Amino acid sequence: MNREQLRKYLSFYQDLGVKSVYRRERAPAAPVVIEAPPETLPMIIEQPPAPGSETLTSISADIGDCHRCGLSAGRNKIVFGVGDENAKVVFVGEGPGADEDEQGIPFVGRAGQLLTQMIENTARKEGIPLLRKDVYICNVVKCRPPANRTPLPEEMETCGPFMFRQLAAIRPKAICALGGTAAKALLSRKEGVTSMRGKWFKWRDIPVMVTYHPSYLLRPYNQNAKREAWEDLKKLFHFVYD
Ligand code: URA
Repeated sequence: MNREQLRKYLSFYQDLGVKSVYRRERAPAAPVVIEAPPETLPMIIEQPPAPGSETLTSISADIGDCHRCGLSAGRNKIVFGVGDENAKVVFVGEGPGADEDEQGIPFVGRAGQLLTQMIENTARKEGIPLLRKDVYICNVVKCRPPANRTPLPEEMETCGPFMFRQLAAIRPKAICALGGTAAKALLSRKEGVTSMRGKWFKWRDIPVMVTYHPSYLLRPYNQNAKREAWEDLKKLFHFVYD
């Protein structure tokens, strides 16, 4: 087609009201990256119940006098969770220690006292009226692992779904993962806490802030991490309460 023929061709289509006769190239679709979870991570299968169909009471009743995994053999009390059923923030730890196993309440030992201080002091300094009783606190596993060892993948796979059901029943505005075990259970990621802390991730559509576990912060050589954890909580609380 010469220039004159092209001009006539274009003006014919313009007269018909056609804006462009050139074919638009579509942008190539973004590649879909599916990252397979590494083998060492526990595969916690989520079976979401119908929205609004569960309460913390019904989940606790379903746990009952649980013997679904080996942790039940050494436990004194099941440590289900504590706090406000309508909390805007849920803190998730690893598993009960000796004090928690005795009382049936999460985070009541030394690490728990530090967590309470971290919550209440950070909130007070930031002008946010928030006490421990206003949040909800639970663990990935509900029974104490022997000698406070890290829960095994199969224990997390068995018990983790109850934690997910607690989160789905509460539907908080944000979740705080305390330490690597909670972060792995919630996010199925292989990075360590040091690289994940202070950043936002998501569990379903709920933002998750990862920070250090209070037990780690109790060690005297981790004082720098303590400052970082305080920064993480500031970020978390401003997101939730501003
Ligand atoms: N550490 C945890 O992870 N959870 C508790 O409840 C107490 C200590």
